[in-house]
Amino acid sequence: MTVIGLDDTDSRELGMCTTYVASRLAGDVAAAGGTVRRTLLIRLNPAVEHKTRGNAALAVHTDLPADHARTLAADRLDLAVDDPETNPGVAVADCEPEAVPPAVADFSRAAVRDYHEPADARALAREHGIDTLERGTGRGVVGALAAVGAYRAFGEWTHETIAYRERERWGTERDVDRDSVFAAAEGAYPTVWDTVDRVEGTAVCVPRTPCPVLYGIRGETPEATRRVARAIDSEPVARTHTFLTNQGTDAHLRPARASQIENGRAYRVDGTVVDGPGTVEGGHVFLTVRDDADLRCAAFEPTKRFRDRVRALRAGDRVTVCGEVADGTLKLEKFAVRDLTTTERVTPDCPDCGRSMESAGRGQGYRCRDCGTSADGKAERTVGRDLEEGWYEVPPVARRHIAKPLVRSGFDAPTHPER
Ligand code: ATP
Repeated sequence: MTVIGLDDTDSRELGMCTTYVASRLAGDVAAAGGTVRRTLLIRLNPAVEHKTRGNAALAVHTDLPADHARTLAADRLDLAVDDPETNPGVAVADCEPEAVPPAVADFSRAAVRDYHEPADARALAREHGIDTLERGTGRGVVGALAAVGAYRAFGEWTHETIAYRERERWGTERDVDRDSVFAAAEGAYPTVWDTVDRVEGTAVCVPRTPCPVLYGIRGETPEATRRVARAIDSEPVARTHTFLTNQGTDAHLRPARASQIENGRAYRVDGTVVDGPGTVEGGHVFLTVRDDADLRCAAFEPTKRFRDRVRALRAGDRVTVCGEVADGTLKLEKFAVRDLTTTERVTPDCPDCGRSMESAGRGQGYRCRDCGTSADGKAERTVGRDLEEGWYEVPPVARRHIAKPLVRSGFDAPTHPER
């Protein structure tokens, strides 16, 4: 078997998409008499600044001999856009995908949660006899090698069926029938998820960038994602391709204490709300969670109705927060309510007239001047909460590719999925 990894063929301005290059390469492999066993779409560390959009890297698994596969991959790099920010890389391993060296699988896991230097990718590839090919600065070799190790590195997989546009339409407005998207999404939920956002009224499966993708359908099984893709009415579809992917798995999150967090990585931290939540100009919501250190968390305006869930938190609530850290602030993707505060300490009311008492002086309790009644200290009042225990998440319009939607199984508490 041969594993071909590739990355970094597109740019924000000039379009293209590495999934498309991989799909065409898979077509070339088949045309050359090879069998394509699967194509992987791997989302790497979402905090990497060089990314065009979703930090994807691709791998094609085939029985074509490695040197033949390498030639086809090199030829397909002609699809890569000519942009100084586009630096394609290819890595070709002559082995079973599940038998890549453990060090390469470790490299993949770290590429999802951390950072690598291209020089380290080259050295590791050389050490294990993995052939590499580069254009430009060759930065893409990081993602290419990560894609080669991914099948061994990860255990949780989902699927995406992508429909591509005819070439002459690239960069023009997409013609996709919205009603057919909503109907197909409704019929296949929850096996297929994040196709639409029902509250925002958005077909989130249709991108807005100049790339060749018409729509991408994500879900648990390839049969279901293909079925939904087929049910959508649209402009002509040039080709479709179904990928095995680590999207929707939370592979980027690592459990940590608040004192351990670093910028540019994503975490899952347990703590207690100690401050906030407060809303600032622009509609962003901030709060502080305390673990072994204080951790500032944010729900930014694009997370829409999720901010209402965050605003419903109160000091004293025990939570688990998840998201990427930038500038010392954790950008919330989801959180779990572990324990809700149900009482608060308030100034007591007078038992006779019912009005609020006044302080009788420092440490001297409270009294009602009119009635002469007194109280030793604050009173406890039950507070109504419009949150429940369990997980809350950003809506589909704000979902990161790699983030696990709550409609999927495997969460450690009840879930409140957004759709
Ligand atoms: P698309 O998915 O649409 O092809 P993209 O968002 O994946 O675009 P790329 O153009 O592939 O973005 O750019 C990402 C670059 O960052 C690649 O060169 C890749 O090798 C590199 N990269 C990815 N993950 C890491 C990492 N963890 N550390 C260092 N570099 C990385």
